Amino acid sequence: MSTVIEFFSKMKLTDAIDIIIVAYIIYKLIRIVSGTKAAQIIKGIAFLLVITLVSDIFRLNTLNYILRNTIQVGLIALIILFQPELRKALENVGRNMFGNLIKSNDVDNADKTAETIKQVCRAVHSLSAKKTGAIIVFERETNLEELLIGKYSPIDAQVTSAVLQNIFYPNTPLHDGAVIIRQNRIFAANCYLPLTGLESLDQELGTRHRAGIGITELSDCISVMVSEETGKISIATEGVIERELTSGLLELKLSELLTVSEPQTEVKTWLKGRVKGK
Ligand code: ATP
Ligand code: MG
Repeated sequence: MSTVIEFFSKMKLTDAIDIIIVAYIIYKLIRIVSGTKAAQIIKGIAFLLVITLVSDIFRLNTLNYILRNTIQVGLIALIILFQPELRKALENVGRNMFGNLIKSNDVDNADKTAETIKQVCRAVHSLSAKKTGAIIVFERETNLEELLIGKYSPIDAQVTSAVLQNIFYPNTPLHDGAVIIRQNRIFAANCYLPLTGLESLDQELGTRHRAGIGITELSDCISVMVSEETGKISIATEGVIERELTSGLLELKLSELLTVSEPQTEVKTWLKGRVKGK
């Protein structure tokens, strides 16, 4: 007991702050990884660290040497293996820190974004009726260029329903692959996106839908797909696809995702709760 009291009496304010920060980071890390593949890997690393410590205490020199070297090489291998996830996590940190600044900038563009959404939904409605296949990706904060596979056709055009329909018109040079919309302009066409590795997807969903989902797993973009086989409209965000939307519902969803800033959404949710709780 006296050693505990002695320990705390020697503790400085900076030590306390240090402990609180480290505890908070560990808590956040556990929350982020719990239930994911990374949780298993972290358990494995923790196990290796414990054995390394034990081998150090009991002076099992050869085992200790092997474990220390394995951990060093393993860390580099982990960074390479989890490069996309690490990038996304760092982008999330940046977004949370500077998100509000970017959002206020978005508010100035709200009219332009609303018009872009209207034009896209008009095109999607018509493409769906004609069963013309399409993928339209809305870039947000993550730059999509480095995620694209191979070459694409750069375009810098106003987003209009007519231009979009023209791009996806069957058997024309630009109709294959996805169109990317960046800052309310058509940035590129013929874009090949990374496919999702999800195994639980419906058999009806082929490479177009896999590509539409895949790009949202690696970035914060939103993708809209029109099926050539069925004419069905889908939207994907954060690796999750919602299918069989009408163009009206698509417009609502896109407006919610692209034009409403987070604080307003929070206020709306709060207000809803108040009305229900009345
Ligand atoms: P649909 O319902 O329209 O048939 P699907 O999900 O079944 O779509 P496919 O039939 O394989 O998918 O669609 C092929 C089309 O998807 C290609 O012609 C091409 O335009 C597009 N596509 C395929 N791979 C990619 C990719 N990696 N990135 C972007 N578009 C792609
Ligand atoms: Mg198909």
